[in-house]
Amino acid sequence: MNHFPIGLTPAAAATLPGHPFVGYRDGSLQVENLSLSALAREHGTPLFVYSKAAMLDALAAYQRGFAGRVAQICYAMKANSSLGVLQVFAQAGCGFDIVSGGELVRALAAGAEAAKIIFSGVGKTRAEMRQALAAGIGCFNVESEAELDVLSDVALTMNLRAPVSIRVNPNVDPKTHPYISTGLKGNKFGIAHEDTLRIYRHAASLKGLRIVGIDCHIGSQITEAMPYLDAMDRVLDLVAAIEAAGMALEHIDFGGGLGIDYQPDDTPPAADALWRQLLAKLDARGYGGKKLMIEPGRSLVGNAGVCVTEVLYVKLGEQKNFCIIDAAMNDLPRPALYQAFHAIVPLTAAGESAAAVPEARYDVVGPVCESGDWIGHDRMLRVAAGDLLAVLSAGAYCMSMASNYNSRGRAAELLVDGSRVHLIRQRETVQDQMRQERLVTPEAAGAARPVPQSKAEPLSLR
Ligand SMILES: *Cc1c(COP(=O)(O)O)cnc(C)c1O
Repeated sequence: MNHFPIGLTPAAAATLPGHPFVGYRDGSLQVENLSLSALAREHGTPLFVYSKAAMLDALAAYQRGFAGRVAQICYAMKANSSLGVLQVFAQAGCGFDIVSGGELVRALAAGAEAAKIIFSGVGKTRAEMRQALAAGIGCFNVESEAELDVLSDVALTMNLRAPVSIRVNPNVDPKTHPYISTGLKGNKFGIAHEDTLRIYRHAASLKGLRIVGIDCHIGSQITEAMPYLDAMDRVLDLVAAIEAAGMALEHIDFGGGLGIDYQPDDTPPAADALWRQLLAKLDARGYGGKKLMIEPGRSLVGNAGVCVTEVLYVKLGEQKNFCIIDAAMNDLPRPALYQAFHAIVPLTAAGESAAAVPEARYDVVGPVCESGDWIGHDRMLRVAAGDLLAVLSAGAYCMSMASNYNSRGRAAELLVDGSRVHLIRQRETVQDQMRQERLVTPEAAGAARPVPQSKAEPLSLR
C-alpha cells in the first residue's frame, strides 16, 4: 500500500532530510503526491500542509518498537491539536495525553476513546477534573501532593475513584533547551525523586483515588538515548520501592520528548531503535511484562508538516538582507520563543527566481511588529517577491501555538493523503477573531450615571 510514485518513496534521494514524504519531483516540491505550489495557489498562504503517511510512518516506528509488548501510545496532543490530525491518530488506535479540559473536548470530538486518555499538567482545575472523571479517562498524571488531595475530593463528590499515576522527577539532564527540559530539579513539573514513596503512601490513603501507575517526562527535543536510559533506571528504582511497600502499579509511563531532525546536526535515535535499548533494560531488570505507556508529541507530527509562505518583499541592506514573508511569529512561534531552527527551502528545486536573481544571505522575517519576529537567520536563498518558500518541520508546536497577534488570522491547514487533500482548518477571518468581543455600550457601562460635562475646551486631536 504505497501511494508514492518512483522518486517520492521514503528512500528516494529526492525527499528532504527527515521528511520522508516531502520531496522534489520534476523540480517541484511535493507532499506525498501533491505539488505545494498548486495547493498554495488554491488555498493561499501561509498554509500548513501535513502528510498523513508521514504521521502514520512516525507512529509505526513506535509500534514496531513495542511489537509483542503490552503498550499504549498516547499522542501528546499539545504538539498539534487540530481535529483532523487527532482523527488520524485516533483511527490508528492511539490514546491521547491531554493537558486541559479543552484538549479533552477536542480529543473526544476527534473520536478518541476516553479510556485511552491520560491527563497531565501541573494546574488542573476542579472543573477540569470533574469533566475528565465524567468522561471516564484512563489516568490522571498527578504532579503534586496538593493535587492528589483535590482530585480525591472531587472524585468522592462524584462517588468515583480517580485512577492516578504520579509524575516523578528523575532529575536527569535531557541536554535540550532549558525551556523544554522538564525532568530536572528546580522546574515546576512532577514531584522530587526522594519524596516519591511518601507521596505514594499518601495517595494510597485517599479514598477517592486508585493508584494505577507511575509517570515521568524528562523534556522535549531529546536527541540522545542516554537521558532516557538514566531516567528509566531511576524510575524502576522507584517502582521497586513502591511495590515493595505494597502498592501495585499497573503501568509505567515514560512520557514523550523524543526529538526530530530540524537540521543535519540533530540526530535523534529512531523510535524503534531507542525502544530496543529501553526494552532491553526493562527486561534485564525484570519489568518487561509490565504495561508501558508513552506520550510522544513532536516525534509523531513535527516532520509531517510544512508551512508554505510567499515572499512579500526582498529588502537589501548594507549590513543585512531581509526576506520578508507572509508567515510570522504568530504562525511559527518556535524561533521567537526558543531561538529554534526551521529549514526553509524553495518550492522549486532550483529556486523559482533562479535565472533572474543571484543567491544571497537573508534573514527571513515576518510582518509582525517585533524584532523577535524572525523565522530564519542567515539563510542562503535565491528569491524575489512572489516566490513561494516552505518552512520545514512545521507539524509540531506551530499551529497549536499560533496566535492572533497583530490581528492576523490563523493559517489554513491541509491534510494530504496520497493524491487526496482535506482542508482540515479554514483560514481564520477577522470576523472569526472578533466574534467573542463586544463594543462598550452605554447601558453596559452604567449610563444611568450622567457623564460629567466639562466646561473645558476639548483637546484637539490632531
Ligand atoms: C509536552 C509533553 C509531552 C510531549 O512532548 P514531545 O516533546 O512533544 O514528545 C509528553 N508528556 C508531557 C507531560 C508533556 O508535557
